[in-house]
Amino acid sequence: MITRVTASRPNPILTGLRCRCPNCGRGPLFSGFLKVAPRCSACGFDLKAADSGDGPAVFIILIVGFIVGFAALFTEIAYQPPVWVHLSLWLPLSVILCLALLRPFKGVLIALQMHHRAAEARNDDF
Ligand SMILES: [Zn+2]
Repeated sequence: MITRVTASRPNPILTGLRCRCPNCGRGPLFSGFLKVAPRCSACGFDLKAADSGDGPAVFIILIVGFIVGFAALFTEIAYQPPVWVHLSLWLPLSVILCLALLRPFKGVLIALQMHHRAAEARNDDF
């Protein structure tokens, strides 16, 4: 299959948030929930090199941790609810926010990697 790199790639933030191919912006980026498709079904772009590693998970943990931690602290200071209220509020919210944000954030990081041609350093780079 011929891989065509389009001359003007779409905005990496928007394509990443929509979980679309960073090359054409049309084909789906993922073949599963978080598994990157080997090739774009629309343009044939090779997506195997796309590897965001643990980056999205770390960002999401920090972002969700800040939101949930601040909300729990505010709720405790303002209302002093029993512990079961905290557990029933913040544990499900943490899981829901992590699952909702992880896929689009991974898409954004992969699209930004492709946009800036980021790759691992090799020995001949030095
Ligand atoms: Zn594509």
